[in-house]
Amino acid sequence: MMSIAGRLSQLLRITRPIQTTSRLVSSSMTIDGNTILAESLKKQGVEYVFGIVGIPVIELSMAFQSAGLKYIGMRNEQAAAYAAQAIGYLTGTPGVCLAVSGPGLLHCIGGMANAQVNCWPLLVIAGSCPEDHEGIGGFQEWPQVEASRPYCKYAGRPPSARLIPLHVERAVRLASAGRPGVSYLDMPGTLLTAEVDEDKVPMDFYHADPVQLAHPSPVQVEKAAELLASARRPLIVVGKGAAYARAEAAVNQLVGDTKIPVLPTPMGKGVVPDSSPYVVSSARTTALLHADVVLLLGARLNWMLHFGQPPRYAPDVKIIQVDISPEEFHNSVKSEVAVHSDIKPFVEALSQKLAQKKVTLQPSSNDWWQQLKKKQDTNVAFVEAQANQKTVPLNYYAVFKTVQANIPANSIVVSEGANTMDIGRGILLNDLPRHRLDAGTFGTMGVGPGFAIAAAMWCRDYAPGKRVVCVEGDSAFGFSGMEIETMFRYKLPVIIVIVNNNGIYSGFDKETMESIQSSGDVTQCTPPTSLSTEVRYEKMMEMFGETGHFCRTVEEIQAALKHAATVTDRPTIINIAINPQSSRKPQDFNWLTESKL
Ligand code: ADP
Repeated sequence: MMSIAGRLSQLLRITRPIQTTSRLVSSSMTIDGNTILAESLKKQGVEYVFGIVGIPVIELSMAFQSAGLKYIGMRNEQAAAYAAQAIGYLTGTPGVCLAVSGPGLLHCIGGMANAQVNCWPLLVIAGSCPEDHEGIGGFQEWPQVEASRPYCKYAGRPPSARLIPLHVERAVRLASAGRPGVSYLDMPGTLLTAEVDEDKVPMDFYHADPVQLAHPSPVQVEKAAELLASARRPLIVVGKGAAYARAEAAVNQLVGDTKIPVLPTPMGKGVVPDSSPYVVSSARTTALLHADVVLLLGARLNWMLHFGQPPRYAPDVKIIQVDISPEEFHNSVKSEVAVHSDIKPFVEALSQKLAQKKVTLQPSSNDWWQQLKKKQDTNVAFVEAQANQKTVPLNYYAVFKTVQANIPANSIVVSEGANTMDIGRGILLNDLPRHRLDAGTFGTMGVGPGFAIAAAMWCRDYAPGKRVVCVEGDSAFGFSGMEIETMFRYKLPVIIVIVNNNGIYSGFDKETMESIQSSGDVTQCTPPTSLSTEVRYEKMMEMFGETGHFCRTVEEIQAALKHAATVTDRPTIINIAINPQSSRKPQDFNWLTESKL
């Protein structure tokens, strides 16, 4: 009788026989590169692989499964790279993205850059052409190590199958240690199929101990405490580095004791619950502009925090910067106190010092709190008024208010799109850390479905019953929409909400679009920001014999979300047609307003 491997080889029309469990077909004394790689990853604590197979990594994907790794086959390598980095952020251990040679690896580059810029751990592994075909026009030959290097902390090719465990250990350690980032391992087909003596492969030798937390210098803690104690308008900015550091208990203790106002960055949301009275997101501009001392916990003073410079900050603001990466210090402004530390031990030490100094603001009487509260009241009233306008077509605010009120409690929210992400950030609340995944520091569109697949896998394995809600602009959804099939195949109950305004930033209604397009050649007159009108994205569910939801009213959204919450073994698409011209509340500063210095 033909083996599973043989049948697979026949089905896939591959001449070389596939070895599902190469250990079984090898002689007892030898082991091949596929198996060494799979077992090495397992040894280093890797749990998930997201990828797309083809020559020369089909056997490798099966070796992963045989080694007990979870393999999730995706539809596009870029989405696989997004999923692998999101699982890295959620678990603290790098996920693997597996790709084929040449174009497969090159499709991962956007995902690698996104992970590196977000400071998230990721390990990319790609097959490459056999070493003896290099330089003579090998199939999908490309200088893959060199191509990956600008996007990586570490990029290399093991020189022999025997040394694969060493390179895997190094790749996992470099992706996770210090400031997290990306590693790349290049695996020529000849290396994967190479057979070596099993007892010559040092599998156990290369297993490093976990890296210890970096503790702060007591001198720096004292300086930070003194500065905060003397501040009249202190502010704590919490970034996704604090979320990655699992520092939530320490940060909440600090905030509860001192009652210093807290401003989360987009993915810092939830470290301190959005519903906490100390979170001042609705007075963001005022908080940044008038703070005299900013305690920066795991966030960079890059474009997202307006570089820490005027006109968005007071010219004499003093920054206390806490980061695992000292290379980050003083990048855009000189920090008054720069502390090289993990967030958690620093915040614990600081809390003790501030308790000794009896630093506690009284929100009911403190002038700074009063100033912030006044601004919060005005902004909340504006949003509430917008959200209560239920006329059809709906505006963004009414949609998000309805979504927030009807999704399962403490869902992980994935969000991308321009207006969809910006407006949704203020209304879709996170009360738990690492429960928001969005376009991030690199502003990457197309991350949503990949992130949602990783988040749903994490829920399945670590928080059964918790739901993932993926709130997408229609343009953003288009980048990776086919991953709906991956969600369906792996029975992931992601609730996809598409906020559909027929365009990028904004679009047009059907009549206006028809009239614009009839005015000349479509390539000359179709607005580059527009997409087709009234696209029925929810009908993608019909590919699987299911029905999606198309909504125009608040009541229809409520009913769709109620139904989606009961579906636990497949994704749901809720396509909401909104006013194509709906926009954001006028801002004092545009998001990208930078320094005039
Ligand atoms: P945000 O987008 O939320 O503003 P950034 O990605 O800009 O956050 O910054 C995150 C920062 O957190 C990075 O500078 C990174 O080095 C730092 N970081 C990551 N992990 C830790 C940790 N365990 N302790 C301290 N800082 C950390």
